[in-house]
Amino acid sequence: MRTIGKPATALARTRRARRIAAELAVGFPDAACELDFSTPLELAVATILSAQSTDVRVNLVSPALFARYRNAADYAGADRTELEEYVHSTGFFRNKTSSLIGLGQALLERFDGTVPHTLDELVTLPGIGRKTANVILGNAFQLPGITVDTHFGRLVRRWGLTEQTDPVKVESELAGQLPPADWTAFSNRTIYHGRRICTARKPACGACYLAALCPSYGVGVTDREAAAELVTGPERPHLLILAGIGDGPGRTGSGPGVDAGADADGLAGIAVRVGPAVGGRPVRPRGS
Ligand code: SF4
Repeated sequence: MRTIGKPATALARTRRARRIAAELAVGFPDAACELDFSTPLELAVATILSAQSTDVRVNLVSPALFARYRNAADYAGADRTELEEYVHSTGFFRNKTSSLIGLGQALLERFDGTVPHTLDELVTLPGIGRKTANVILGNAFQLPGITVDTHFGRLVRRWGLTEQTDPVKVESELAGQLPPADWTAFSNRTIYHGRRICTARKPACGACYLAALCPSYGVGVTDREAAAELVTGPERPHLLILAGIGDGPGRTGSGPGVDAGADADGLAGIAVRVGPAVGGRPVRPRGS
């Protein structure tokens, strides 16, 4: 029997990726981009502002910004000093202001003032790299996009789905493991998991409902109570129940350690055992 710690083949990684994707869908069924926006342009602007900042900070700034600058022409013709004041609190405000003005100008000159919806076109715009382009594709246009940010890269490496550190290579490898229809949701859910449970410094392994699938179990806090304290976000009660902590019944229709069923990718019948069961350590799936 192979161990889950070292997938022997690309196929093993693909199977694990799809099982994790299915579990993430249970943990974060409604995960979405956490930046507030109502148009592709607003998302492009918000994503540019989110560099070296937080989504919370950007969401504090964006209502007034979006009310003042409504289209590409507004950014193209912006008074630099005024725009800098709007975005100042997000950090690196001079560079970001240059990107926003350049973005408006490029959209006017080359795309009739609209945000394009192809990766190749998006990455030609000021301030928009591949990561930002994929955020826009997936969340503003509902087109498949894998967003490799710091959370995503860290988690897929912890999950043993890739050993790559170059974001483009990470994106390529994950794109080969998951169907395009899952790319955006998997990205958003992975980022949620990275923010709420599997953080960079103190992963909450002991309270992680993915522990049974994770070859990196133990890199973080394994004491269940201490780990539970580390879990954050509005989904926290739900996540702790999935991990077998708390008063709930475990996952719907079953308890921790029970077959969670198949994912949406034709892997019907694969048993995904979740939750802690033996000696405080999660049950690992057999035959993985
Ligand atoms: S078991 Fe630990 S390392 Fe693995 S996903 Fe959960 S928190 Fe992260």
